[in-house]
Amino acid sequence: MSTKQPDENEQALRRQLIDVRRNLHREPELSYEEFKTTEKLRKWLTDANIQLLDLPLKTGLIAEIGRKEGPIVAIRCDIDALPIEEQTGLPFASEISGKMHACGHDFHTATILGAAYLLKAREEELQGRVRVLFQPAEETGHGAESVIASGGLDEVAAIFGLHNSPDLPVGTFGTRTGALTAGVDRFEITVKGVGAHAAYPENGVDAIVTAAQIITSLQTIVSRQSGAREPVVLSVTRINGGFTWNVLPEIVELEGTVRTYNEELRRMIPDQMTRIIEGIAAAAGAEARLHWFPGPPATINDGYWADFTKEIANQVGYEVFDIAPQMGGEDFSLYLQNIPGAFVNIGAGPAYALHHPRFDVDEAAILPAAKYFALLADQALVRLKGKCGPKSETK
Ligand SMILES: [Zn+2]
Ligand SMILES: [Zn+2]
Repeated sequence: MSTKQPDENEQALRRQLIDVRRNLHREPELSYEEFKTTEKLRKWLTDANIQLLDLPLKTGLIAEIGRKEGPIVAIRCDIDALPIEEQTGLPFASEISGKMHACGHDFHTATILGAAYLLKAREEELQGRVRVLFQPAEETGHGAESVIASGGLDEVAAIFGLHNSPDLPVGTFGTRTGALTAGVDRFEITVKGVGAHAAYPENGVDAIVTAAQIITSLQTIVSRQSGAREPVVLSVTRINGGFTWNVLPEIVELEGTVRTYNEELRRMIPDQMTRIIEGIAAAAGAEARLHWFPGPPATINDGYWADFTKEIANQVGYEVFDIAPQMGGEDFSLYLQNIPGAFVNIGAGPAYALHHPRFDVDEAAILPAAKYFALLADQALVRLKGKCGPKSETK
């Protein structure tokens, strides 16, 4: 245990960050509607004398801490909530019907705000600048695009982000080199047959039987067209067609998602799907079309920086795990396409799964995570300065 004075400061910060988390938890806002959240953050940051960048962002914001010379690193959290009716019964549960911080982005925001406060307290000693990014609309998979377009990450040499993990207990930390989360794509398929009386299918073209064959055959992409060493998940999640029991409908709609880690494989899948869909439809005398909606790519952690995040986690006393890649998505991946860095999981469980109406985080994880991210950014600047200091001055 440390001396009394810092302990008291630490307790005050712990309390303050828990209050921030609960405040955000009470008033969840959906993707690109985080206006109040953004205003709160603006106030909390400016009250702490932290500089905000003037950027064309509708919601979300970026602060900057440090000295003008030297490299720039970024730490990122996401701030949006989900359209879920909360069932936790917590005293600070959502006050907005049908909306909930069910992915713990309130936890992430409190953590990164805490890191900003800690970095501000030692701003003069920093070996460069830290961009502190409060990103909107992660749940849509497109929030990172607006941040990149705003120019808020220009010149950033390394970037780090976090997600809470309900599977890891407080005090534990997980990440890995390479793919951590999957590429997330959505598709819709329209199958158009010819409607008929259910008693006389020969007078029409059965869109339902055609759709059923398409659904079954699509799984051969996973089992027959992709190597066993490259994971692919293809899930059809919605089928719409028909109105009653004695009429064959003209149209059936399907919807679903494809998850991959390998970018080359990911790019081949729409063509493979199209061949199956159009081939089966043609055989039945129907028409079918694939509509493809690309989402964020796989999150690929840089080996050097992933090891670095583990090294700092060990230093501050986390129990560090190499975790398995996940088939879920995370739009932090878009930053990593252009900036080296790493995404990490912070244990805040055990809890219900992410996006569950009873999901909660253990608030004991907030202050240690804030301290961790402050140290991570601080030490990343030291590393960068040591690695390419003189070069970065001339560039
Ligand atoms: Zn989520
Ligand atoms: Zn999330």
